[in-house]
Amino acid sequence: MNRSSSLFEEKKKNVVKVERFVSGEAGPIEEQGTFEQTLRPSSFDDYPGQVFVKENLKTYVQAARARQRCLDHVILHGPPGLGKTTLAHIIANELAVPFHQTSGPAIDKPGDLAGILAGIEANSLLFIDEIHRLNIQVEEVLYSAMEDFCIDIVIGQGPTARTVRMPLQPFTLVGATTRLSSLSRPFLSRFGIQEKLDYYDDESICLILNRSARVLGIQLSQEGALELACRSRGTPRIANRLLRRVWDFAQVAGKSQVERAIVEFALRRLDIDRYGLDRTDREILRTISEKYGGGPVGIETLAATLGEEKSTVEEVYEPYLVHRGFIRRGPRGRSLTDLGAASF
Ligand code: ADP
Repeated sequence: MNRSSSLFEEKKKNVVKVERFVSGEAGPIEEQGTFEQTLRPSSFDDYPGQVFVKENLKTYVQAARARQRCLDHVILHGPPGLGKTTLAHIIANELAVPFHQTSGPAIDKPGDLAGILAGIEANSLLFIDEIHRLNIQVEEVLYSAMEDFCIDIVIGQGPTARTVRMPLQPFTLVGATTRLSSLSRPFLSRFGIQEKLDYYDDESICLILNRSARVLGIQLSQEGALELACRSRGTPRIANRLLRRVWDFAQVAGKSQVERAIVEFALRRLDIDRYGLDRTDREILRTISEKYGGGPVGIETLAATLGEEKSTVEEVYEPYLVHRGFIRRGPRGRSLTDLGAASF
């Protein structure tokens, strides 16, 4: 989907993306596709991190190949930018099957889904990104497609309407979501394989950065990589984005290598601190500290004070702050930890 039609879809669904440099969501550059495609590993062995997820998927893929059967349907969930789309590509590569990609908001009506499913080859992998944003009518059509490889299509209207069963080629559905809890139970139960991706440790991000640097022809020192990794919020998409920007600073400064000092300089200019926090993150920490005595403060109150939607604070800003231990989530609201209190 091109950028303008994807923006149109966003508006139509009334979803506003927050554009931040340290967001794991794909920004304008990544949405153009080429940059991410260049950096996308194509095999499990070339994909650092997510060790358990990777080993499990490897096993399921191997078993499906040995049995010459379609892989069971897979749901991959976790924050944006951690490699769900990349894993879907890798699964298709390792199964040696065709790959088809769409997204929840792009499938408007059951007819759209029927068109996609009718057009795919036997054993294909169909990847649906943001699968939690499928509408319920489409979701219900998927049930029989996933279970019995057929769909029921209603032809005509009113009393003359009749249902025709359309057989499909067997396929594997791989769904990706950042919000597993938004999927209904009946839908979720149809995915035989469910894997959660977590934020990466600094060591794995270093491996990813070294690989990206190799692909892009950037000289990256070990210390430079480590410094970048610490500030990448455990997210490969952010790591790759920072690497490109720091490379710009290095180039303009006449450096042939991206080393620690230039990383520190560039990230100061981008206003990203040593933990990978940006101005908004620091404002959240400061607000809890200064306006609410360190908390606990309810999420609605906090969001209202920040002038943000509750869901934006919950889904965009908070997860990394909680993951890294800056904020604690409790029954009475959010509180600063000692680390959080020392970080703004
Ligand atoms: P998601 O679908 O979870 O939002 P993507 O799969 O689109 O994330 O990954 C975002 C970017 O990060 C891509 O350029 C991808 O190549 C890179 N990436 C993600 N995970 C890894 C990994 N484990 N190793 C190397 N690159 C990765």
